[in-house]
Amino acid sequence: MAAQISVAEQRQRCPECGADVPVEPRFVTWCDACDWNVDPGALDPEIRRIEALRRRLAQRYGERLFAELGPRPRRDIAGVLAYALAFLVHGVTVALVVTGLLLIVLGWGVGLLPVLGALLLAVAVALRPRFGVLPDDTPVLRRADAPRLFELVDDVAAVAGTAGVHTVVIAADANAAVSTYGMRHRRMLCIGLGLWEILTPQQRVALLGHELGHFAHGDTRHGAVVGRALDSLALWLYFLTPDSETDLMQRVTNWMMVVPRWAVLGLLYLLDQLTLRAAQRAEYLADETAARAGSSVAAAELLDRLLVVPSIESALHREAVVAHSRGGAAARREAEQRLWERLAARVASVPEREYERLRRVSVLRGHCADSTHPPTHLRRRRVSEGEQWEAAVRCDEERAGAIAAELAAARDRMAHVVIRDA
Ligand SMILES: [Zn+2]
Ligand SMILES: [Zn+2]
Repeated sequence: MAAQISVAEQRQRCPECGADVPVEPRFVTWCDACDWNVDPGALDPEIRRIEALRRRLAQRYGERLFAELGPRPRRDIAGVLAYALAFLVHGVTVALVVTGLLLIVLGWGVGLLPVLGALLLAVAVALRPRFGVLPDDTPVLRRADAPRLFELVDDVAAVAGTAGVHTVVIAADANAAVSTYGMRHRRMLCIGLGLWEILTPQQRVALLGHELGHFAHGDTRHGAVVGRALDSLALWLYFLTPDSETDLMQRVTNWMMVVPRWAVLGLLYLLDQLTLRAAQRAEYLADETAARAGSSVAAAELLDRLLVVPSIESALHREAVVAHSRGGAAARREAEQRLWERLAARVASVPEREYERLRRVSVLRGHCADSTHPPTHLRRRRVSEGEQWEAAVRCDEERAGAIAAELAAARDRMAHVVIRDA
């Protein structure tokens, strides 16, 4: 906490407008009056122009969506088309199976027909939609492993108006996600410690609110029909992507795959466009759930924390590189110890002025958490200017401590992974 108190002593004059600006050696020096040097890592002018266009589009798009967000979601024409397209994709797999079976049964004894049938069945098996699976290389917690964490998840789920999760998967990255696994669509929550550990307990409640909000608002992209169709198309594309052309045969095969590949690419693009709007809408609604569960203040703070994610990732990488350069198992063990505490202290020492700069950069560049999330600054604006919620779920010191104790083993294991995998 000591670093937070240290005030910037040095100051300089802004070369653009002459305003007096503070100089903090660890952070970028910039002018809040005229935005001088607000984005020193900015892209070259040509790319910037494209970025500016995208930003304007995102802004207009986001604002329109913002205005249209009513209390009840209506199934629009794009949603219906997306479902139709998804059924078409699944229909291809079904058609392969049916044709394969018919060729085997009806064509039995007729030359190569049964062989062709078997071939089609094999292709169908290879291209079948796959259910999500639990990872086997990272800690997977069940209710008995972490009862207090699951209790918190249940409380947040109740606010979101949905059920809790079956498993919590712990990862090392600065991220969080929900998905399903297995035939019965069991629910999985993935917590990346790089994000979880830099949040205050109340911001964690907001994070859980956002993630469980995705279940509550029926996100089509994660759904059984459209989600699996998107997965299938991605898989088909993988099979249709040409190998390096080593011989004539390869060249002919690649040439034959051009048309189906473009067809799959086209379908993927279309399905993406048809669901993007619904996906962005789901993100706004998930942010609202985050605010209702953890409070509007915590939800806005959470969105600020997303802006420092790139620096978290580089900080973790740097820790590992330093440990390796010092060499020896002892140095690595030392780096693993209190890794998450050091990361949390680092983020806690980021001054408000730096967040303000990152927010302005996010407006300039159109920062998004990923391709389906709306621009972070629009999400933040919506949370901080929309209806203000008090926290429905509280995570006090005692609760946070109990959950940290349940996560202790997973934290150690992930610290080891971070330091080892430099
Ligand atoms: Zn200035
Ligand atoms: Zn989300």
